[in-house]
Amino acid sequence: MSLDFDTDVFVAGGGPAGLAVAIAARRKGLRVMLADCSVPPIDKACGEGLMPDAQLALRQLGVHLDRSEGFPFRGIRFLDGGLCADASFPEEGGIGMRRTVLHGRMAQHASALGVDLLWGKRVSGIDGDRISVAGTTVRSRWIVGADGIGSRVRRWSGLDNGSGRELRFGFRLHYRVAPWTDCMEIYWGDGCQVYVTPVGPEDVCVALISRDHRLRLDQALNHFPELLSMLNGTAPVTMERGAVSATRRFKAVHRGRVALAGDASGSVDAITGEGICLGFQQALALAEALANGDLAQYQAEHKRILRRPTFMARTMLLMEHRARLRRRALQAFSSSPRIFAGMLAMHIGAASPFEFAANGIELGWRMLAG
Ligand SMILES: Cc1cc2nc3c(=O)[nH]c(=O)nc-3n(C[C@H](O)[C@H](O)[C@H](O)COP(=O)(O)OP(=O)(O)OC[C@H]3O[C@@H](n4cnc5c(N)ncnc54)[C@H](O)[C@@H]3O)c2cc1C
Repeated sequence: MSLDFDTDVFVAGGGPAGLAVAIAARRKGLRVMLADCSVPPIDKACGEGLMPDAQLALRQLGVHLDRSEGFPFRGIRFLDGGLCADASFPEEGGIGMRRTVLHGRMAQHASALGVDLLWGKRVSGIDGDRISVAGTTVRSRWIVGADGIGSRVRRWSGLDNGSGRELRFGFRLHYRVAPWTDCMEIYWGDGCQVYVTPVGPEDVCVALISRDHRLRLDQALNHFPELLSMLNGTAPVTMERGAVSATRRFKAVHRGRVALAGDASGSVDAITGEGICLGFQQALALAEALANGDLAQYQAEHKRILRRPTFMARTMLLMEHRARLRRRALQAFSSSPRIFAGMLAMHIGAASPFEFAANGIELGWRMLAG
C-alpha cells in the first residue's frame, strides 16, 4: 500500500463489471474507490438472464444470490415459426433477475467490504495517475475502465484499436405475467430475435435484438404471434430501454497503469446472454493481476476468457439471416436433444471443445440428412 496515492485501485463505472472488479480487488486487500455517474440501483436494457457460469463467478466474488429474488430457469429454448427445441444446462440452472436487483445486491456487498463508492459522480479525464471526477482529482496506483461499451477510459488510454464494429440494437420491456416457461426462450425471426426471461413469479423480461435501430418491441412482437398470445394483451409495466450490443475485441486491454474490464474491454453479442458473466470472470482475473502487479497476466487471461463466448456469438449469428439453415438446425436439435444439450454445455464452459466438435459434426450430418 502506497500513501502517495489516495487509493490503490480507482474503478471508473459501477455497472456489474465495475462492481465486480471493486469487490474482487477489495477481497485482495487493496484500497478501492469506484465512481459512477448514475446512482443505484442502476438499470440497463438487458435480457436479465444469468447463466450458470455467471452465478459461479458471482459466488467466487462472495456474492450469494437469493434465488427468491429472481426466477430459476432450467435451460434455453429456441422457437422459429412452428419449430421448437430446448435443452437443459448440465447441472445448475440459470436465474432471471432484474438488473436493479442484481445491481442493488452487488452495490451492497461492495459497500460492506469497504469500497469507497462515489455514486452520481462522472469521471471526466485521466492524466497519468490522476483521475478527474466530479470537479476533484484523485490519485490512484491503478485505474480500471469499466465504463461500458462506449468506454471513454478506453479512448483516453489509446486502447481503442480493435476489430468487430458491427453493432446491433437491443430494447427491453417487462410484463406482469406469470412465467409460462421454465427456459429462457429465444424467438428467431428474419432480421431480429426476441428473448423472454422469467424474472419473478409474476414478471417476465422481453428483449429485442436487431440490426435496425428503428425497430421497437411493439412492432417486432407482431412477427411472433405465439409470444403475443402468451403476453395475452397485457401492457408493459416498465419504460422501454435501449442499448447497443456488439461482438468486439481490442488488441490490448491494458496500458501503463490502466486496465479495462467488462464491455469496455470487448464484448459479445447480447444473444449469447454471457456479457455479465464475462465481466465477473474478468474481474476475478484482473484482481489477481493487480495484486501481483502484473497486468500482462490479465491480458493473457482476458484473451482466454473472451475466446469461447466470441466463437459462440459468431456461430449463433450465422443463423440470423439464414432462415433455411436455422430451421434445419432447429429440426436437428429437436430430433436429437442431446446435440443441443452438448452445445449448451459448451456455451457455458461446461464441455470441452472436443465434445463440441463431436456434436458439431453430428449436427452437420443431421442438417444435411434432414
Ligand atoms: C438488449 C441486451 C440484452 C442483454 N442480455 C444479457 C443477458 O441476458 N445476460 C447477460 O449476461 N448479458 C446481457 N447483455 C449484456 C450485458 O448487459 C452487458 O454485457 C453488461 O451490462 C456489461 O456490464 P458493464 O459493467 O461492463 O457495463 P455497463 O452495464 O454498461 O456499465 C457501465 C457503467 O459505467 C458508467 N459510466 C459510463 N461512463 C462513465 C463515466 N464517464 N463516469 C462514471 N461512470 C460512467 C455507467 O453509468 C454504467 O453504470 C445484454 C445486452 C443488451 C444490449
